[in-house]
Amino acid sequence: MIGVFAYQGELAAINDWSPLLEYLNTAIPEHRFYIVNRDLEGLREALKANELDLVITNPGYYIEMESEFGISRIATLVSPEAETPARALGAVVFTRASNTQLRDLSDLSGKTVAAVAPHGFAGYLIAARELAQHQVDPETDIKEMRFVGLPMGGIIGMVQRGEVDAGIVRTCLLETAAKEGLLRMEDFRVLSPRKFEGFACVSSTPLYPDWPIAVTRRTDATLAKAVARALLAMPPIRDGVSWTVPADYQPVHELYRELRTGPYTYLRDITPEALARRFWPWLLGIVIVLTGWVIHTIRVEYQVMRRTAELQDSLNARKAAENRMRAHQEQMEHLSRLSILGELSGNLAHEINQPLTTIGTYARTVLRRQASGILTPDAIAEACAEIASEADRAGGIVQRIRHFARKRVATREPVVLRAIAQEAVRLIVGMLAHTPDIIIEDRAEGKGVVLADGPQIQQVLLNLIKNAIDAARDLPPDRQTVRLTIEASDEHVQVHLDDHGAGLAPDQRAHLFEPFFTTKPDGLGLGLPICKTIIEAHGGRLWAEDNPDGQGMRFSFSLPGAWHEHAT
Ligand code: ADP
Repeated sequence: MIGVFAYQGELAAINDWSPLLEYLNTAIPEHRFYIVNRDLEGLREALKANELDLVITNPGYYIEMESEFGISRIATLVSPEAETPARALGAVVFTRASNTQLRDLSDLSGKTVAAVAPHGFAGYLIAARELAQHQVDPETDIKEMRFVGLPMGGIIGMVQRGEVDAGIVRTCLLETAAKEGLLRMEDFRVLSPRKFEGFACVSSTPLYPDWPIAVTRRTDATLAKAVARALLAMPPIRDGVSWTVPADYQPVHELYRELRTGPYTYLRDITPEALARRFWPWLLGIVIVLTGWVIHTIRVEYQVMRRTAELQDSLNARKAAENRMRAHQEQMEHLSRLSILGELSGNLAHEINQPLTTIGTYARTVLRRQASGILTPDAIAEACAEIASEADRAGGIVQRIRHFARKRVATREPVVLRAIAQEAVRLIVGMLAHTPDIIIEDRAEGKGVVLADGPQIQQVLLNLIKNAIDAARDLPPDRQTVRLTIEASDEHVQVHLDDHGAGLAPDQRAHLFEPFFTTKPDGLGLGLPICKTIIEAHGGRLWAEDNPDGQGMRFSFSLPGAWHEHAT
């Protein structure tokens, strides 16, 4: 059975295609051919119902059905109007000759246009593509696109009566009607008219391939072959119509793709708008999540900033407090150093006086000898050497006191405890008239090194030594000896200061490290608290206990060792 697309209506189709039917029935007698004339929907239904073996339709419907039902062309029509079947079909957009406004396709913007149907190939789509090329969007720029259906002849009448500004029909329809005396070409004007070589009719668009005849999926292969062979061999019938090898329908595909219709309708779905329409719930979700995230981030950022500012403030406040404390502490230390000096300097005048007296004596001796005329160069040299040595002694005492009393800022460097202890002892010996024996015993074997502020540690030692001397001041000389022991392990250095003094009653010992606790008439009670602060600031510990010898007290401090650093 042959299905034919009847664009001019069923009756016209029967007339058109009956010579072909006759030919096929004669050429292939073992088969009986029938023709059914259908509109697009009719053809579709027949294909769906699997009723057709052959389909003759326009190129547009052909590619639609090709993709939908898998029909496949075996020959292309050759019309008498077109020399090349590949360029045989176009659309004519026309108006009444009296309508002088419309000359070009671009003039159609805002006008009323009649066409066959949104799917119509020559009756709409070919013209629609051309309109688009003339910057007129057929879907939005035309005032009204009136789809009036088949047959196409109706459109000519509408234009003639002025019901629409322009009409769209396939090429050659006007010329054929004129030939049949149904109209006069001069009554109409074709918009953007074009003439093509080898094509008899006027067109408003480029030309596309002519109608194909196609086999369907159910068509028997031998029958398909026989039909193809018969068609190619068919002499021109019905006004010179014949068949040739199938044309290339690629231009038709391009048209559909460009207009995003037929098999290419899906292309409409991938425009940004279409995607947005399809996925808007997702987009909305993403936007909400993103907004939430942004707000959250900003909030967190703000909170972090606020917390950082608060922390910074409190850090600054702490730093300021620490600075104040350090300043106080330095002041206290200074005060305490001065106080030790004050206590020690009772005899200072006497100490300095001694070298001065000696210097004076030597000077006078020289003068006397000169007066007596017995001054020898040797005597001058001896006197001067003694004078110089005594002056050095006095200078040394003054120097050490000045060094110790200086106001200074804490530092940290490797300090050899034995050296510091010896310096402290020298200072004390230099200032006191009668100093008891102070024995330094270094058992640290080179490990008696701490990372510390030397003068501060010296101050601690001075304090402890002075207290030890004070504790045995009124006791027999054998109890006045003070022993300083330095011991070291790998991690720590310990210093013990042992005296054989009067010791301290247990209830008083509890207050030993409290500020202003003193049992001495001229005491300040600041020495030990300051020593404790200094040692603890160095990461160490200071404590008091009974002298393990049995008499007097032992004051000890322990500091982290630093002999490694000293070695390097
Ligand atoms: P100060 O020497 O001005 O009194 P310190 O803080 O150095 O201040 O000492 C506080 C008190 O601790 C001293 O008055 C003394 O009673 C007691 N003390 C310190 N060292 C000894 C010691 N080695 N033996 C006995 N008592 C001591």
